[in-house]
Amino acid sequence: MQGDFVVVGGGIAGVSCAETLAFLQPEKTIILVSESSLIKTVTNLHAITKTIVSFDVKEAPSNSLCEKYSNISIVHDTLKEILDDKMELVTKNGAKIKYTYLCLCMGAEPKLIAQAEQFPDYIIGIRDTDSVDVFLDKLKHSKKILVVGNGGIASEIVYKVQDVQINWVVKDNHISATFVDPGAAEFFQDSIHSKTPNAEPISKRMRYQEDELHKSGAALGPDWYKSLVLSGSSEKQVTIHYKSEVANVAKIDNNEHPIEVTLTNGEKIICDLIVSATGVTARRNFKTTGMLHYSEDGGVKVDEYMRTNLTNIYAAGDVCTANWQWAKHWFQMKLWTQARQMGAYAAKSMSGHLNGEEILQDFCFEIFTHSTKLFGYKVILLGLYNGQKLGNQYEILVRTTKSVEYIKFVIENHKLQGAVLIGDTDLEEMCENLICNQIDLEPYGDDILNPDIDIEDYFD
Ligand SMILES: Cc1cc2nc3c(=O)[nH]c(=O)nc-3n(C[C@H](O)[C@H](O)[C@H](O)COP(=O)(O)OP(=O)(O)OC[C@H]3O[C@@H](n4cnc5c(N)ncnc54)[C@H](O)[C@@H]3O)c2cc1C
Repeated sequence: MQGDFVVVGGGIAGVSCAETLAFLQPEKTIILVSESSLIKTVTNLHAITKTIVSFDVKEAPSNSLCEKYSNISIVHDTLKEILDDKMELVTKNGAKIKYTYLCLCMGAEPKLIAQAEQFPDYIIGIRDTDSVDVFLDKLKHSKKILVVGNGGIASEIVYKVQDVQINWVVKDNHISATFVDPGAAEFFQDSIHSKTPNAEPISKRMRYQEDELHKSGAALGPDWYKSLVLSGSSEKQVTIHYKSEVANVAKIDNNEHPIEVTLTNGEKIICDLIVSATGVTARRNFKTTGMLHYSEDGGVKVDEYMRTNLTNIYAAGDVCTANWQWAKHWFQMKLWTQARQMGAYAAKSMSGHLNGEEILQDFCFEIFTHSTKLFGYKVILLGLYNGQKLGNQYEILVRTTKSVEYIKFVIENHKLQGAVLIGDTDLEEMCENLICNQIDLEPYGDDILNPDIDIEDYFD
């Protein structure tokens, strides 16, 4: 087999890469190597602001791509080895595929706590539909679970899981530290212990639709729990253990709860199940002839065109690490939105390089944006929302109304550098403009967050 472009991985990065290539290069052949018969596709794309988009993510049979684009063909197989000196790849089933350009979109896998290898039945991670099935099954029989991690997945589990005692182990001194500061964590306190999670606010963001019959191997995304009953067999109770990590796990015999966990602060907790939501690490389940360069976090290093160090091999999504000089207000996070943006941009770069065209980096890499939901609230993060990269030379302005909204502006030299918008604030567009245009806010002083003044009027 031979493709002008070969893309490996049927997750959001691989599919957006293949679709963008099909659009830009309708005369060229594109081969998508996908482990499964299902792929992730984006539908209902809607721009909330210039850089924040909402979209639905659907699982679809991979042949739907071939029906839509006559120049895409699918190979159901797993990449085993890249013979980069011959511009050829070899699959698990022994197929050989020649490429002119290759894009690696194999995603990542959960980075579990060290003890997981020893106790695979009791320590699990959540990544794809298979792992959720395992989780649901084990949860049904659990009275006490331990959740380790302080990012989006851990926060969602603590909020959504019902009828179980939860010990939540976080290494920071406040919860959900990946996304919010201690002030916002305080704002969420009431919701954490809520036994009946808030009614879902109207969601402007992407929604993953579960397909009961098929598994795709790709990462789950937002709202993965939407159609699931996440329920244990006890009364819900949440205890948070701050500034601690798991030091040791031991099996205890003849006990209703078979696992004993010792935390780094010496505390001991017994439980039935441990959910390790402690980040991801790029998939490295293939070999290369030449030496592929990886970054310290395990991702394949890519330059500003999403190129790896090996000739004509690109990478996008969770598998890669952005190794270029980032714009001031952007940084990488392994997120659905970035996987989609990188996949499409890698396609533009490969197509541009083939045509010998100049490639300008996409505007989406100018500012970090993330739209999510935490503890039932809509959350929008913009730019350097936690003061990332700013050292100590910045101010924070906060406006909050209990159970309604939490707005935080990060300001440096009177210019907005980042914002956290929790609740239905409708400030995302204005904040995006203030960050991108670096408008001087000195004349407005603290009034910028005065609730009696409609600040959007200032910037009409
Ligand atoms: C529970 C959960 C909740 C999440 N929530 C959010 C959220 O709210 N918002 C958000 O933005 N992001 C969220 N994410 C992260 C988001 O889902 C990922 O960042 C994104 O899906 C990554 O896409 P990807 O295409 O790079 O990788 P993946 O979706 O992992 O796709 C990789 C694909 O490559 C295939 N593959 C792997 N190795 C090979 C091989 N050797 N040969 C062939 N195929 C291979 C895999 O089977 C898979 O289909 C969440 C993730 C999880 C697990």
